[in-house]
Amino acid sequence: MARAATATINIEAFRHNYRLAKSLARSAKAVAIIKADAYGHGAIKMAYALENEADAFGVACIEEAVELREAGIQKPILLLEGFFSADELQTISELNLWCAVHSLEQIDALANTKLINPIHVWLKMDSGMHRLGVMPKEYRSAFARLNQLEQVAEVVLMTHFANADNIGCPITAQQMQCFDEVTHDLNAPISIANSAATLGYENARRQFQRPGIMLYGATPFSNPHPIADQLQPVMSLTSEIIAIREVPAGEGVGYSHRYVCNQPTLVGTVAMGYADGYPRHAKDGTPVMVNGQRTALIGRVSMDMLTVDLTQVTGAQVGSKVELWGDSLAAAEVATYCDTIPYTLFTGVTRRVHKRYINE
Ligand SMILES: *Cc1c(COP(=O)(O)O)cnc(C)c1O
Repeated sequence: MARAATATINIEAFRHNYRLAKSLARSAKAVAIIKADAYGHGAIKMAYALENEADAFGVACIEEAVELREAGIQKPILLLEGFFSADELQTISELNLWCAVHSLEQIDALANTKLINPIHVWLKMDSGMHRLGVMPKEYRSAFARLNQLEQVAEVVLMTHFANADNIGCPITAQQMQCFDEVTHDLNAPISIANSAATLGYENARRQFQRPGIMLYGATPFSNPHPIADQLQPVMSLTSEIIAIREVPAGEGVGYSHRYVCNQPTLVGTVAMGYADGYPRHAKDGTPVMVNGQRTALIGRVSMDMLTVDLTQVTGAQVGSKVELWGDSLAAAEVATYCDTIPYTLFTGVTRRVHKRYINE
C-alpha cells in the first residue's frame, strides 16, 4: 500500500453548496470563484462539476483562465484582479474573458489598445477595503469613460468587503452605503457579495454574487449561522496511523519535546506532515479524528508525520483511518487551533497528497 495521505473531494457537495448560494437570491447570478486552483481543490475538476450550471467562473489571473479555456470550459471567466499588464488585453478579448478594472491606469491602457472583440468590464470601487479599486470620487467619471470606449461591452459595478465575515460589524454597512450612494442611478448590474456577504447580508445579494469559500463547504463565520451551517464539506484530508507506542509519563514526544506526557500515553504516528500542507503551527490539542473518534494532536508537526493521543481511542491500530479535516471535523474548527482560516488550510495542501474525486 502506498502512503495514505489523501484529499477526497466530494463533487456533489460542491454542487450542493453552489446551489445553496444560488437559492439565496434566485434572480441573481453567481460567479463560482475557483481561483488558486479552486482553493486547492483542483480548478479544472471543479469547473467541470459546474459547467452546466455556473453562471460564470472567477479566477485571479490570466494563467488560471487560460488553463480553464484549454480544458474546454466555455462559460464566462472573470479575472478578479483584471490585467496586470496591457499585453494581456488581446488574450482577454480573444478568450472572451470578463475583466475587473480597478484603477484609472488600467482604463488608460484599455483606451490605448485595439481589440478584436469588446470586453466585459467589472469596474471595482474601493469602498473601504483599501486594497484595490477606483476611489469613490473618481468612480462615476471612470464609469462614464468606460461606457464611451469601443473596447468595452457591458460594465458591471463591483466592490469587495473587508469585514463581511464579522456579522454586525458597522464597516460592512458603511461600505455598502458608500457604494450605493455613488452608484444608485447608474444603469448597470452590481456585484458586491463574497461568501460572507452572500450568506450574512440579504441586501448584499445583487445581480451577481461571488461565492468562494462557501462553495468548498467552510463557513466564513466564527459562530454558528443558520445558512452557513447547511454547507457541506467538500475536502476530507485523511491518512492512516503508521506506528503506535506507549510513552511513559514525563517523556516528550516529537521535535523539541514540545509535548510532555503527563500520564502513560498511547501515541499514534500519522502519515501527514507540514510538507503535505498540514500546518506546522497546529497547537497541542488540535482535534483529529481517529477511527471515527475525536482525539488530539500532541507534539510538533514534522515534515512527513504528526503524532496523536490514542490513549482514549478504542480499537486504534496501525492502518486506522485518520481524518485531519472533512466530513466529521470542520476545517474552520481546525483552523482556529492553527491561528488561521480554512482558506489557507485548503490552498496549502500540496501535490504530494493524492487527490481523489467522488460523486462526480
Ligand atoms: C476571492 C474573492 C471572492 C471570494 O471570496 P470568499 O471569501 O472566498 O467568498 C470574491 N470576490 C473577490 C474580488 C475575490 O477576490
